[in-house]
Amino acid sequence: MRRNIVAGNWKMNNDLQEGLKLTSEILNMVQDEVNDNVHVILGVPFVHLSSVSKLLEGIDNIFLSAQNCNEHESGAYTGEISAAMLKSVNADYVILGHSERREYFHETSQLLAKKVDIALANGLTPIFCCGESLEIREADTQFEFVCQQLTESLFHLSPEEFGKIVIAYEPIWAIGTGKTATADQAQEMHEILRKHIAGKFGEEIADNLSILYGGSCKPGNAKEIFSGKDVDGGLIGGASLKSRDFVDIIKSF
Ligand code: PEP
Repeated sequence: MRRNIVAGNWKMNNDLQEGLKLTSEILNMVQDEVNDNVHVILGVPFVHLSSVSKLLEGIDNIFLSAQNCNEHESGAYTGEISAAMLKSVNADYVILGHSERREYFHETSQLLAKKVDIALANGLTPIFCCGESLEIREADTQFEFVCQQLTESLFHLSPEEFGKIVIAYEPIWAIGTGKTATADQAQEMHEILRKHIAGKFGEEIADNLSILYGGSCKPGNAKEIFSGKDVDGGLIGGASLKSRDFVDIIKSF
């Protein structure tokens, strides 16, 4: 279902005490200040999931996300975490295909297709990240490139499965750089992605899809970026580590 979403991606930040403090602050502010028109997601490190989920018990507009999962159901994969394990500690979402995972951990579109499958099979909603490098943007091939990322990792799904996905468009040149895409650039890409998806899965599924923007989103620019008709919210990195900034971004809707 298409909804307004603001998702934080804490990445590899915050020890457990810091994570719980941040969660409590966000929780209090969201309860006091935010109306129910936004779905808030906290993308926390694996080891925090269980404890953060206890703080969120009984809260119906803040959800929990992991930042990755393994593509196998279970087995001899030392150090890895399965989708079933995430579900068992109350994760609702899993971020897949973040550009940092693609770049530093060599995650390919084909691997991501398997991760998407296993996440869905275990009742997790993938927040599927896509986005182009600066080089691709400068060559003006960003639309073909990002559409291709979706085709390769998501177009094998059935319409019913695809209908459960959330997409996050995150131009790599805007992540953690302080250089955000303009509202027009975000809207333009989101519209093209929605059309690409409509071509494969039909207008209704494309219309119901939430497409988030990510890349140096802050309280000062969120309102303008979220105003695009195809922009349904944001995936927030740096600013999700500060409760006041994160909640002010949520309040941009
Ligand atoms: C991200 O890494 O998902 C992200 C959007 O980071 P930042 O907001 O810090 O640019």
